[in-house]
Amino acid sequence: MIAENLARVHERIREACRKAGRDPGEVTLIAVGKTKPADLLMEAYRAGERVFGENKVQEILEKETQMPSDVRWHMIGHLQRNKVRQVIDKAELIHSVDTVRLAETIQIEAEKKGLVVPVLIEVNIGGEESKYGAAPDNVLFMARAISEMKNVRVRGLMTIAPYVEDPEDNRVLFARMKELGEEIRKKGISNIRMDILSMGMTNDYEVAIQEGATMVRVGTGIFGSREQGK
Ligand SMILES: *Cc1c(COP(=O)(O)O)cnc(C)c1O
Repeated sequence: MIAENLARVHERIREACRKAGRDPGEVTLIAVGKTKPADLLMEAYRAGERVFGENKVQEILEKETQMPSDVRWHMIGHLQRNKVRQVIDKAELIHSVDTVRLAETIQIEAEKKGLVVPVLIEVNIGGEESKYGAAPDNVLFMARAISEMKNVRVRGLMTIAPYVEDPEDNRVLFARMKELGEEIRKKGISNIRMDILSMGMTNDYEVAIQEGATMVRVGTGIFGSREQGK
């Protein structure tokens, strides 16, 4: 079942790329296995998937020990500063840096371990009260501040768009994310890159790809629905 779901998602990614005149090689699928056990994730692994996203540090730590070492883990959920130390050498990318303070903690811990940690700045592009993420007006300031941190490397932007019935309703937000990334890239700030745009989930990843996403984070569309509230 999971192998079939995955094949369908990959097919839809290719189709969205085709429509947008993009190379499918530009888009990385992140299989979001949160709340699901490692044996279910292993079905995706056996079908060829290597990039997995989790929204809790604890789940990365647990599943990392249960899965092969060539799995690449992405931290996509809200990150508490007291968990930074545990995750920076486990995740290949942290998608959810939403304050300079969090970046500072990553800097301190990364320096201790002699790492340079790639991160995305999480943007609350829909301006939703309930969501984490920096206000769009704050992102340039944050990018500049983090560019001063030797052991943290901004690679781009991430957003969790609002849940909408019709994914077309998020198109304008995805387009705004792309613009924001371009705007910052044009400043030529040293020590940062703006080559990653992480946006699009099960409900709207095709629209996100058409608007420039380079990473899509798909959970339900691969692993099925989660228990309510998770
Ligand atoms: C759960 C989650 C996803 C995947 O959501 P689906 O709608 O199940 O595809 C993507 N990104 C983040 C940050 C998440 O927490």
